[in-house]
Amino acid sequence: MTIYARRGVPTVINAAGTLTRLSGAIMRPEVTAAMAEAASAPVDMAVLQAHASDVIAAATGAEAGYVTSGAAAGLLVATAACVTGLDASAMARLPDVAGLKNEVIVARSQRNGYDHAVRTTGVRLVEVGLPDRASGAGVRDAEPWEYATAIGDRTAAIFYVADRDARPPLRDVVTVAHAAGVPVIVDAAAELPPQANLTRFIAEDADLVVFSGGKAIGGPQASGILCGRRDLIMAAALQHLDMDVMAEFWAPPARLIDKDRLVGLPRQGIGRPCKAGKEEIVGLLTALELFIAEGDAARHARWLAEARIIADGLAGAPDTKVDVVGHDDIGAVPKAMLRFPRGHEARGAELIRALLGHEPAIHADASDHACGLVTFNPMCLRPGDAETVVRAVAAALGT
Ligand SMILES: *Cc1c(COP(=O)(O)O)cnc(C)c1O
Repeated sequence: MTIYARRGVPTVINAAGTLTRLSGAIMRPEVTAAMAEAASAPVDMAVLQAHASDVIAAATGAEAGYVTSGAAAGLLVATAACVTGLDASAMARLPDVAGLKNEVIVARSQRNGYDHAVRTTGVRLVEVGLPDRASGAGVRDAEPWEYATAIGDRTAAIFYVADRDARPPLRDVVTVAHAAGVPVIVDAAAELPPQANLTRFIAEDADLVVFSGGKAIGGPQASGILCGRRDLIMAAALQHLDMDVMAEFWAPPARLIDKDRLVGLPRQGIGRPCKAGKEEIVGLLTALELFIAEGDAARHARWLAEARIIADGLAGAPDTKVDVVGHDDIGAVPKAMLRFPRGHEARGAELIRALLGHEPAIHADASDHACGLVTFNPMCLRPGDAETVVRAVAAALGT
C-alpha cells in the first residue's frame, strides 16, 4: 500500500503538466534519496545556501544564486532586494514602502496571477503598453520607449515575464533599464526546457532571474531558483534567512553575505515566511544536476515516447484528429493533442469531465477545450499511465 492509500488520499494521473495544484514534478529516486539523507543531519543554513549559490552560479552563469521555496517566493525576495538594497532599516519596514523606491514597471500584457508575489513587498505595479486585443485595430505590445518614460525616482525594478513570444525582447528592456540604473527581474519559472534558458536571461543581462524547482527541473514541489547579481542575492538572502542570531557570533560565508557591507544586522525579513528547508535545497540542487546531465535531447525522447503511446493509441478514434505537437523540437515538451471537429468542440469538455471521473482521476490539459482540443502532457506521467489514459479515453469516446 502506498503512503497515499494508507492515508486515504487518492493519487491521480497527471497528464496536465507540472501544475502546482496537481503537486508539481515527480522526483527521481536520486532526488528523494538526497532529500532523505539531507534530512538526517543539522547544517548551518547560510553555509548550505552559499554552496547552493556556487552550484546555481555554475549552472546559470550568474554571479550568485539562492534556493527559494518556489519561483513565486523568488519573485517576492527579488523584489524586496531591489527595493531595499542592503539597507537594514528599509528591510525592517517592508511592506511599508513609503519613501522607498516603491514602484515596479511591467508591460500590461505581462500582468499575471504570480505578480501578487511582487506586490506582496508593498510596491505598486506601473503598467506600460496597451496590447489591444479588443478593437481589432492591430496589436502593438509595450515598446522600449514606454518603459524608459515610465522610469522615475521611485522605480525599484522592471518586472519581465519571459516567454517565447514576449515583447519587447528582454535585451531591449534591459538596455533602457540599465541606462537609468534600474535592475530587471525576470520570471522564467516555466521556461525550461530548453535547457539553454538556464543561462539565456543572465546572458541577456537580467539582474535577477527565477525558475521553478518543481517543474521541468524535477526538484521538490516547494523549491525554486533565484540567480543574478551578487549584491541583490545578498539582499534577498538577508530578507529570507532566519536572522535570529547575534552579530558577534554570526559568520556567514562572505560570498553569500558580506557582513562588512552591513551597518547592522537586519531582523527577520519579509521573505521569512517562505522558508526553504535543507531537504528542499539539497533536493533542488540534485535535481538541477540531473536535469543538466540528461540534456534536452534525451529528455525530449523520454517524453516523446509517452506522448506517442497516447497518440498512437488514440489514432483512428472516430471524428477526431490526433497529433503530437512539439515532436520535432527538442527544446519543447512534446504533447499528444486530440482535436474534435468544428461544431463539436463541446465534446472536448465532455471528455475532460469523463476523465476526471475515471478511477484514478485523469487530469488532461484543458486550456484549449473551448477550441475542441484536449492535450496530454507527458511530464508527470508514471510508467503505465499513458496506457491507462488511452484505455480511459477510448472508453469515454465509446470506441
Ligand atoms: C509556475 C509559475 C510561477 C510560480 O512558480 P512556483 O515555483 O510554483 O512558485 C511563477 N510564474 C510563472 C510564469 C509560472 O509559470
